[in-house]
Amino acid sequence: MKLFFICMLASGILLSCNNKVKKANDTATQTENSTSMQQAASIHLDASMVDNKKDFICGMPTSAGISDTSHYKGKVYGFCSPECKADFVKEPEKYLAEIK
Ligand SMILES: [Zn+2]
Repeated sequence: MKLFFICMLASGILLSCNNKVKKANDTATQTENSTSMQQAASIHLDASMVDNKKDFICGMPTSAGISDTSHYKGKVYGFCSPECKADFVKEPEKYLAEIK
């Protein structure tokens, strides 16, 4: 189950990269279409899918956008960037202790 979810996330990240490239090409000619694509692309990583309201590392609200997630002790934490996630993964207990 966990593995499946990680695979889903990985494919979601790959898809969002593809969308970004496509969006850049479309922006000049189809502004309306690229806006709706952006909304659709943000659905797969949503603040409602994670257990933290804020990025532990930089303090950014997860509702403002998540680009990576980490699974720890049965919970899912969202981060604004792979860098923030990497910091959390190094010392998860330290960051979890800070928010309690
Ligand atoms: Zn961050």
